[in-house]
Formats: sequence, structure tokens, C-alpha cells
Amino acid sequence: MKPKTSDISTIVIINKNQQQAKSLQIKTKHIERLRHYALGVFAVVAALSGLVFYLHSQNKEQEERNKQLQAQIAKLKIAVPAAVANPANTQQGSAQSYIQSIETKLKTINDYLKRRGLKGFAVKSTGGSGNNEAAKLPDSEAYSLYDDYLKHLTSTIAFTPMGYPRISSFTSFFGYRSDPFNSEHAEFHPGIDFQGRRGDEVKCTASGKVVFAGWAGGYGNCVRIQHINNLETLYGHLSKIEVKVGQKVTVGDDIGKVGSTGHSTGTHLHYEVRKDGKPINPVKFLTLNK
Ligand SMILES: [Zn+2]
Repeated sequence: MKPKTSDISTIVIINKNQQQAKSLQIKTKHIERLRHYALGVFAVVAALSGLVFYLHSQNKEQEERNKQLQAQIAKLKIAVPAAVANPANTQQGSAQSYIQSIETKLKTINDYLKRRGLKGFAVKSTGGSGNNEAAKLPDSEAYSLYDDYLKHLTSTIAFTPMGYPRISSFTSFFGYRSDPFNSEHAEFHPGIDFQGRRGDEVKCTASGKVVFAGWAGGYGNCVRIQHINNLETLYGHLSKIEVKVGQKVTVGDDIGKVGSTGHSTGTHLHYEVRKDGKPINPVKFLTLNK
């Protein structure tokens, strides 16, 4: 069947060098389709070009922003002090200063103990700049070293006579004094006397073991407690004894009551601190500051 004339389009191709023009007859329908395809392809190409252009410009903007940020970072690096820029350094610095401060305090406590005739302990410098080897100790080792010192210190302090067996004023100090029973005779007073009323509590000044609890001549009712470092405390003229020989006592325990038993002119507590069996001045042990 032959198509209708109106459905056919004629394309005329004219070549400059040839005299005769060529004519081509195509169904109009096909030309329409071709035009749609061409338009479609053109649209896709245009859209892709647009996208490529958009992405390219976006990229440029991003680059520009990156450059600006880098410039800002460079400026900040110059402005910020090195210590802040490196937090690890700062932490190490403050840890070192804490270690030095702890060491100083340990040495102070050590001096208190040494002045009381106690052994104390050797403080190995870990934080000081003077001892480079020790300063290189890993943190955990330095901390365990301090832990050991503090453990030692805690037990030393608990077992070292310290403070008052009762809080009151002293009526008599350690040393020579005139004999209260014979004014022409000088007598050595081996402890200090605390004022008190009959029945007032007497507290032991350090943890230890009771080695004597009973009557002891001039001391009357007397308690003696043994502590570490060859130290002993003695509490005399008691009206009542609250402990037994062999009993372990903790610093602050009530070991007896104030009285006036034995060689005594009035109700008071006689308190002695003995080192290696010899009386020493208990005033040294009343506070840490002397
Ligand atoms: Zn006395």
C-alpha cells in the first residue's frame, strides 16, 4: 500500500559542486521522531553540562574555603602558647609539681619524726629535677613508692606517742625541780603532770601493747604501754586501771582514770615517754611542731 502524499516529506540535498540536487523522500512521521530524539539528546547534554559546570564551581568554592581555614589555623598556631597547644605536656607538668609538693610534705613529716628520735624513712626523690634517673620512673612506680611511704608513715604515726593523754594544763614539767615533799632537796621529774579531777578519762597517746598494769611504788596505780621504735608511755597516780597486761590498745583508748595514788600531792596525771627504757621529755611529743 502506498502512503498518502501528505505523510511524505521531501528532503532536498544540494551539493555546491554538483549541479543536480538530490531529493530524499522520508515519511513525515520519521522526521518528527528524529526531531524528538534530537531534542531529547540535546536536553540530556545540556543538563549534564550544567551539572559538570555546577560541580566544578562548587569544587572551586570548597578549595577557596579550605585555603581560608588553613590560613586561620596557621594564624592560631602562632597565637596559642606551646603549653596549651600540647595538653599532654601540661598534664605532665602539673603531675610533676604535685609529686614535688607531696615529696616536700613527706620530708617535713619525716623531719618531725627524726626530731623525736625516730628512724623515719628515706624519701627517694622522684619528681625533683636534680635526680634524673628517678624522675624517669614510670608514673605507676612513682605512685607505688609514695604509697609505701604513706603506709609506713601511717603506721609510724599511729604507734608514735602524740598529743595529750588528757587535755588540761600541766602543773609540772620534765626535769629537775624542788621536791614537793622536801623543799631542800632537788628531784628529777621524769615526765609531765596534767591537771585533772578524780575519775577523768586518761587516753593512751599511741597504739601499742600494755606491758604493765598495777601498783608501782611511787607511781601508784600505773599503766605502761609499749610502742614501736623502743618507745613506751607511762601513766601514773591513776584512781582506776581499765586495761590488762598483754592487751593491745589503739591510740585514744581509755586506759584508766585520773587519781592521786602513790607518791602524789594531789589529783593529777603523771605522764612519761620513755625511749630505750629512759624517760625523755614528753613535751616533744605533744605537738608535731616542736
Ligand atoms: Zn609527775
